[in-house]
Amino acid sequence: MNSPPSRAVPRQLRVAVPRPLLQAFDYRLPPGVEGPWTGCRVRVPFGRGSLVGIAVEEPRTLAQAGAEGLRDIEARLDPAPLLADELGDSLGWLARYLHAPLGEVLATALPAALRRGEPLPETHREGWRLTEAGQTALPAMRTGRPKALAGLLAHGPLDTDGLDTGMPGWRAALRALQARGLVEAVVLPRAQGHDGQPGPALNGDQQVAADSIRAARGFAPILLDGVTGSGKTEVYLDAIKDCLARGKQALVLVPEIGLTPQALARFRERLGVPVHASHSGLTDNERAATWTAALRGDARVIVGTRSAVFTPLPDAGIVIVDEEHDGSYKQFDGIRYHARDFAVMRARALGIPVVLGSATPSLETLHNARSGRYAHLRLSARAGNAQPPRVRVVDVRKRPLDAGMAPELFTAIRAALDAGGQVLVFRNRRGYAPVLLCHDCGWSAQCPRCSTPERGMPMTVHAGGYRLQCHHCGTRRPAPRACPDCGGLALQPQGNGTERIEDALAQRFGDVPVIRIDRGSTQGRDALQAHFDTLGSAPGILVGTQMLAKGHDLANLTLVAVVGVDEGLFSADFRASEKLAQLLVQVAGRAGRADKPGEVLLQTHHPEHPLLQVLVNGGYHAFAETELLEREAAAFPPFAHLALLRAEAKDAEAPLAFLQAARPAFAGQAIEINGPMPAPMPRRGGMQRAQLLLSSPSRSALQQALDAGVPALYDLPEARKVRWSLDVDPVDLY
Ligand code: ADP
Ligand code: ZN
Ligand code: ZN
Repeated sequence: MNSPPSRAVPRQLRVAVPRPLLQAFDYRLPPGVEGPWTGCRVRVPFGRGSLVGIAVEEPRTLAQAGAEGLRDIEARLDPAPLLADELGDSLGWLARYLHAPLGEVLATALPAALRRGEPLPETHREGWRLTEAGQTALPAMRTGRPKALAGLLAHGPLDTDGLDTGMPGWRAALRALQARGLVEAVVLPRAQGHDGQPGPALNGDQQVAADSIRAARGFAPILLDGVTGSGKTEVYLDAIKDCLARGKQALVLVPEIGLTPQALARFRERLGVPVHASHSGLTDNERAATWTAALRGDARVIVGTRSAVFTPLPDAGIVIVDEEHDGSYKQFDGIRYHARDFAVMRARALGIPVVLGSATPSLETLHNARSGRYAHLRLSARAGNAQPPRVRVVDVRKRPLDAGMAPELFTAIRAALDAGGQVLVFRNRRGYAPVLLCHDCGWSAQCPRCSTPERGMPMTVHAGGYRLQCHHCGTRRPAPRACPDCGGLALQPQGNGTERIEDALAQRFGDVPVIRIDRGSTQGRDALQAHFDTLGSAPGILVGTQMLAKGHDLANLTLVAVVGVDEGLFSADFRASEKLAQLLVQVAGRAGRADKPGEVLLQTHHPEHPLLQVLVNGGYHAFAETELLEREAAAFPPFAHLALLRAEAKDAEAPLAFLQAARPAFAGQAIEINGPMPAPMPRRGGMQRAQLLLSSPSRSALQQALDAGVPALYDLPEARKVRWSLDVDPVDLY
């Protein structure tokens, strides 16, 4: 089998296809096409159609037995492998670790355009210039963004980097100009690198951290544990510069909404080389271009969100995961990978350092640092002149509230605005009010498709009271005018969401802009930037959800007011406290990032709650210490490893029946099995949901149990009546 098959001998090729099936499929290979094949895309017939799969082995001489049944591959799509070498091996490891079909894992790793079988894009630098018609039309154009963009291009052609810097959110304007024939695409010469603009001189802590990262050789996982505003980004930039100087590629992962044009511009300006972006705001072609440029070694710095962890790195030098605790690194459907964890895995395979940065490290990462598996670098003070914000807990029991806000809050907001500062009012509830209640009879609006056995799920009131929406399944409907039960007209929105808070603040502080930032008002990162631009640096108020908690640097922000976190204090999920502590510390960290001191007000009905006490008095690390002890006592991660088998169906019995049938597949293994049991939200979007929880203090014992049990699940007759999925290392149990 090792001797190269001669051209004339018929061969067969093993192909992984993007289907929920564990096995790969063999196809007949017409003689003639030489390898290497492993990691190339091939188009193959499948069922009645055809699909794009990945060759997972080199061709073998056609086995005589059973060969009649093999179908021919339709086409080889790549002259050279895409998913080979380290990336191919790491993806194989990922598929085995997640117990997921290899074909689906490989497809997930490819940008959508390549997954569909499109040819590798050109990776030359694309740009735009004014056409002659554009030159002529410019002076007479109506004022507006298209004209502003045309004006920008009148000085010469620009590529996407140049446009991002010159006019954030330029895409719509460009499309308008293109449609009128006023601009055209051009190929630009490759950008010349320059030294990059110098940054601030690193302070002592930063220098120590930067030196240890520079000194790291081979696989070296490093936690960069630095309070908000301590200058972690400067340390990343130093590490990337060093990596570039050694002729290597750097991959930087950032949270889903952390990658603003602002952040990209900072990297570009400082590094002086093209920075290739990969995030959900780009077109399929742009993402494929970044991926391909990395594969060819043309892209030296790649900054991207979750799926950028699949970027090929033929000259890998370093991987950086910013805000490593962030929930957006975990994929919640399809292939449920964790980008941070896979980044560490790839760094190991590549033999390079990986830096995990955060002001609020996940308990997993802290545990790894404490046990010596990761190096632990600390930045304990804010960089430059910035001081840590002062945190004050406001006890709102028995206080008169307006839209949930106590008088102390309004006084503090007024004072901050009068001093020329900006204010962030944080409330982690979108919409106008969480509940619509009939004051006459007690009826409340509930989602028809979501519930627990004990109660329905309230629908959130939106649009000032006109619309109802379920935040679990998305169901929307107009709000009734009269109570459906008693016909009364006393329907009242109860509680406060960001819309209502925005209304109340706009009424009281009519002299400054009040801008709401949440998923309802802000779709996409250009919209976020547009909001910040509207605010500028003049006094004003931002109202928002956790979208505002991440990495935005507003120099003039001096007050952060947290309106109510009480729901989060009493959640049943084992990770709820960790998430709440991270959120509070991150939101508080937005205050006083530059020269002006910052203040944080924390409103609560439970000022004595241990979580708040520990956080306020001891900070995040004190919280983490106590929380780790509790996790250890309860045998939860990071002291146990979990896998959650979920099932759902319209019919209430089917999920439980499937899990009951699945349970014996894991019997006799050194793991604990809990369930089957209904999911914490047993009915969502009209589907009945149940789960089986597998756990073990030993990762390898859990893996062995999954190795033994998972393949059998595909063959269970009960599996056909449900949608099931396996989540290895679930971040929550919902
Ligand atoms: P982090 O990512 O840790 O929250 P950043 O890297 O965004 O912090 O830095 C916070 C602010 O401090 C930025 O405005 C940055 O320019 C500034 N900064 C960082 N390092 C220094 C330094 N050594 N001297 C002065 N300013 C600094
Ligand atoms: Zn009623
Ligand atoms: Zn619902």
